[in-house]
Amino acid sequence: MSQPGIPISGGAPAGLQAQNGAASASGSLYTNGPVQNTLMSSQVSVSQGYNSQLPGSYPHLIPAKTLNPVSGQSNYGGSQTVSPLSNYQGPGQTLYRPLVASNPVTTSLHGGSVPRMPLPTSQNAAATSMPSGSFLPGASVQPPSNWQYNYPSTGSQTDHCPRASSQSLSGNTNLTTHQYVSSGDPSLQNSFIKSGITPNTNNGSMVVHNSYDEIEGGGFSATPQHTNKNPTMNRSVGYSYPSLPPGYQNTAPPSTTAMPPSSLNYPSGPQGFNQTPLGANHLTTSMSGLSLHPEGLRVINLLQERNMLPSTPLQPPVPNLHEDIQKLNCNPELFRCTLTSIPQTQALLNKAKLPLGLLLHPFKDLVQLPVVTSSTIVRCRSCRTYINPFVSFLDQRRWKCNLCYRVNDVPEEFMYNPLTRVYGEPHRRPEVQNATIEFMAPSEYMLRPPQPPVYLFVFDVSHNAVETGYLNTVCQSLLDNLDLLPGNTRTKIGFITFDSTIHFYSLQEGLSQPQMLIVSDIEDVFIPMPENLLVNLNESKELVQDLLKTLPQMFTKTLETQSALGPALQAAFKLMSPTGGRMSVFQTQLPTLGVGALRPREEPNQRSSAKEIHLTPSTDFYKKLALDCSGQQVAVDLFLLSGQYSDLASLGCISRYSAGSVYYYPSYHHQQNPVQVQKLQKELQRYLTRKIGFEAVMRIRCTKGLSIHTFHGNFFVRSTDLLSLPNVNPDAGYAVQMSVEESLTDTQLVSFQSALLYTSSKGERRIRVHTLCLPVVSTLNEVFLGADVQAIAGLLANMAVDRSVTASLSDARDALVNAVIDSLSAYRSSVLSNQQPGLMVPFSLRLFPLFVLALLKQKSFQTGTNARLDERIFAMCQVKNQPLVYLMLTTHPSLYRVDNLSDEGALNINDRTIPQPSILQLSVEKLSRDGAFLMDAGSVLMLWVGKNCGQNFLSRVLGVQNYALIPQTMTDLPELDTPESARIIAFISWLREQRPLFPILYVIRDESPMKANFLQNMVEDRTESALSYYEFLLHIQQQVNK
Ligand SMILES: [Zn+2]
Repeated sequence: MSQPGIPISGGAPAGLQAQNGAASASGSLYTNGPVQNTLMSSQVSVSQGYNSQLPGSYPHLIPAKTLNPVSGQSNYGGSQTVSPLSNYQGPGQTLYRPLVASNPVTTSLHGGSVPRMPLPTSQNAAATSMPSGSFLPGASVQPPSNWQYNYPSTGSQTDHCPRASSQSLSGNTNLTTHQYVSSGDPSLQNSFIKSGITPNTNNGSMVVHNSYDEIEGGGFSATPQHTNKNPTMNRSVGYSYPSLPPGYQNTAPPSTTAMPPSSLNYPSGPQGFNQTPLGANHLTTSMSGLSLHPEGLRVINLLQERNMLPSTPLQPPVPNLHEDIQKLNCNPELFRCTLTSIPQTQALLNKAKLPLGLLLHPFKDLVQLPVVTSSTIVRCRSCRTYINPFVSFLDQRRWKCNLCYRVNDVPEEFMYNPLTRVYGEPHRRPEVQNATIEFMAPSEYMLRPPQPPVYLFVFDVSHNAVETGYLNTVCQSLLDNLDLLPGNTRTKIGFITFDSTIHFYSLQEGLSQPQMLIVSDIEDVFIPMPENLLVNLNESKELVQDLLKTLPQMFTKTLETQSALGPALQAAFKLMSPTGGRMSVFQTQLPTLGVGALRPREEPNQRSSAKEIHLTPSTDFYKKLALDCSGQQVAVDLFLLSGQYSDLASLGCISRYSAGSVYYYPSYHHQQNPVQVQKLQKELQRYLTRKIGFEAVMRIRCTKGLSIHTFHGNFFVRSTDLLSLPNVNPDAGYAVQMSVEESLTDTQLVSFQSALLYTSSKGERRIRVHTLCLPVVSTLNEVFLGADVQAIAGLLANMAVDRSVTASLSDARDALVNAVIDSLSAYRSSVLSNQQPGLMVPFSLRLFPLFVLALLKQKSFQTGTNARLDERIFAMCQVKNQPLVYLMLTTHPSLYRVDNLSDEGALNINDRTIPQPSILQLSVEKLSRDGAFLMDAGSVLMLWVGKNCGQNFLSRVLGVQNYALIPQTMTDLPELDTPESARIIAFISWLREQRPLFPILYVIRDESPMKANFLQNMVEDRTESALSYYEFLLHIQQQVNK
């Protein structure tokens, strides 16, 4: 797979990014001592001896050799620091995208400076003939019917990208001047070019050196291929490394039958990993390959077996790999693929009509994370892949890259295994034993000295804002968590408030109290005494605390109703530009003054219509400012607390393109809406104290032949495939779409590797690497058998958000439905030999129709409701930014009966007993009036109590004597001294752990207004505007059997 657009890397090693906090686990270093098996088994505990050494201890154990100079400071490149460059592509935009309907917006993406990859002929045909309302090539046109999911697609396109315009930044001499250059369709062809460098338009792509490219390294295109021309050579590479004898993983010297790796001889190379030789499977039948999972081979008639929902959380499919490989594989919570068996050609993928893509949660908090400190980070010289468990060792001195097949030398230092203290076993190094690993990056992974943690808070203090009372909550949370902000002695902090003017606060050490400085010229904001506005937190802590205590009272009498959000953001950006950092913006209304002012455009009576709703930004101001922020390593998190329409579609761009997050508290009021206050408090607590990585970049590589073409999430795509993440946090998820660009017939395994280079809050430069390995298959049935239905639903949801914005909501809904119809039609016509009546699906896709129906009823895509526009946009932001597990909960909540919890099958975690009730189908049929049912919808928990619920539950859990005494509004359970109370409280707090958004608990009686919300999540039931699950199945069956 060539990626022609990647600027050639200077060959410097790549880098990753940042993280801090939770030092106990993530800070462990591999030094000496026994090492246990890795991450997947999470056995390593801190007490085992290899956590105790300081960084740096390990390199000294190694025989001397030429090392990269490790100086404390690094290539600090002056104006090179941050040079956003070239082809900017917003999240979800497409570099190469035959897969999307022929609408003018996406096509235009092919022009200009964005390198275009050759389209496989089969795709070209498909792309041109593709109807709207389908994500996949060659999707059949669904004839309009009386069925509600078919709407004519509206032809209208809205530019949702900023117009190109030139802009220069001023204010700081360190700033690079950026110029937006456009070519082709200006709405989509903006290029972000560093001034002073002449773009060289070889091949239509920029060959400007991107400084981040230089440190992270380019992709395949960077190097003319050393790939194997001879397919047989791929396979006969002697022994392949990971297939170590059983027993090996326990660091103890292999005592059993362990043969030295060098004596392992797998004549057919990677095939050696597979118990069932793939070769045999290729020949035949549809049933090949999955003999280990008999259940997975079932064909199911969904019209007969309607209850396919497992009673325990749905597990991702296990790739059909030899167990020796699989046990080294990446945890699916971090990295998973929609198809765990990769089709060997694009033609085969097209036939399956399933989307191919990856879902990532790269910065997830981990209980155990191996961290390597070494002066040599071993990477492929050709494609810059990090050495990983799926490379093969040709001998002790040479390893073969599993992404581009180049043969590389094993550096001398790597010959020594610090874990076993044995020389000559490079294959047992932690780098080759862990699919997830973190490196301490040496200086060549730095463009400048690691930045300090910088936190800037920007508060709306207009009359409206003061009315909500939010400042009390936020300032108190900050006071409570000030010492827990991730950071070190270099941490800086600052505050800006604004209404119609902008207010700065001097917190210079030595002042007796904070000084407020008001700037009323919002046309051209200048920063008074910038050096005193962002101050060292330790040195000025008392002043900061003073300010936080007084701030809530300072504006209580204000009559100022205007909001100059845009100018305030500009000021904040200028203030942070020299360092980068995190900007936290609190806004309570539509901005009305200065740049970025917005007008209301929600029409309440059109809320329920699927057409003509404003999902696109009304100005490009916020996106452009976000790109400027991204260029200076500033991420903007937006907290929107507003009872009225605030145009989140426009405001949200400030976070989306700067790799920030959006939080939304509709109708926030400190007295009228106490539940929101609790939610804000809890979410702020996590937000302020969770890990954070600064000045990060992420690159995802895949085996030659596969190509990534579309990215989803909050970031800015720099130089084709390098994601710019000024901040990265443990709650962010990402997705990418892929295609098979070159046939994979010569390979049996493919790998995917994400590398995240970041600066931790302690000022360390770190690289977190995840590698996933999957088998390649040649038959359609194998592709279907390996489908990961949750990942597919998650990727489709991301694609549907894009489609809603570039085309229309109804078009996106059509595409979701067609995704089910097309893939099940393909399965029926190409895999099933005898055509039975009914709706036949492979076991792997038994929940596909249910999940798609759930997506259609999800707030992002639903119709016929009173969802407010901002709420819908927020739901869409969440689809794009949430890790898959939460996206699935939001889409298809988990329902449990909880009035009869028992300890049977309970989890035991740290002396806590956590009941594990069965998961029920989302249908009122499953409810009964004599029970109580808890619905976990990700960011909300609803406990519905039936009218005839037993007295036991009422008194021993809710603490009331009878049903009528359950309060109308009850958002907490009392802690009673009963086992029943203890069980449900343990269960609920377990569900809430680690959630990015705090799920508020609502106790709902029959007459509660919240009951409608509860019922709305009953995905399998019919509503006024949406089909029941059974009706939906009938519709699908009708279309499939045509
Ligand atoms: Zn390589």
